Amino acid sequence: LLELVSISKSFGDNEILKNVTLRVMPQEMVFLIGPSGSGKSTLLRCCNRLETPTSGDILFDNTNIFSPRVDINQIRTKIGMVFQSFNLYPHMTALQNVMLALRKVQGKSKAEAREIGITMLERVGLGERVDHYPSQLSGGQQQRVAIARTLALEPRVVLFDEPTSALDPELVGGVLNTMRELRQAGMTMVVVSHEMRFAQEAADRVVFMADGNIVEENTANELFDNPQHPRTRDFLARIS
Ligand code: ATP
Ligand code: MG
Repeated sequence: LLELVSISKSFGDNEILKNVTLRVMPQEMVFLIGPSGSGKSTLLRCCNRLETPTSGDILFDNTNIFSPRVDINQIRTKIGMVFQSFNLYPHMTALQNVMLALRKVQGKSKAEAREIGITMLERVGLGERVDHYPSQLSGGQQQRVAIARTLALEPRVVLFDEPTSALDPELVGGVLNTMRELRQAGMTMVVVSHEMRFAQEAADRVVFMADGNIVEENTANELFDNPQHPRTRDFLARIS
């Protein structure tokens, strides 16, 4: 569904991604792990055109997302992204935040956007909170609003960049539950996360990155229990 072919990315003289190739199958949940600065966020950002690779192709449904014929809004709708910081508009309620792109990008009527928005907020367990402002919601609830906002656009893939890193520990579970439900519903997901236990439980595949390279990838059980590469072993030893 999503295919990165020999992606490299440099900022100035700094090569951040070095010839990375990764193929994500439909309904797969792929975890991306690795030390700080290894290029995980940069890789995700390339996948919805927040960054442009220096070389290489990214194919979505066999179409190069950097082709001039491809509409960037269409790509960001189909390849949704959820960030560590939820980026909600503080002056808008949960529902208004979810409705915004439906109205502005997809041109849906107010009534239709409202109905979709409520359905999505119910889906992430916030049916009772649709009229709350972000400041009236916990961090975990705000992150679930952000997820609902992404889902409302009916993406085919969702990229998560450390979705629980900014949350107090007791709020992490609710967000992971939402991700678990998404997986059960068959959503294709690429997740950067330090929640290793969640990765072990939910990931179809775990990819370990270091210094802009994919060092090793495997099923969660194999990668965590039987890492092949010394760098993977070293990383796992340091975080456990
Ligand atoms: P973390 O776990 O800390 O989030 P990461 O694996 O997500 O790390 P990236 O954010 O992809 O790492 O960053 C990789 C490297 O690229 C870092 O050294 C960073 O300083 C550099 N970098 C990222 N974005 C830019 C930019 N816009 N301009 C210059 N350098 C950048
Ligand atoms: Mg990052």
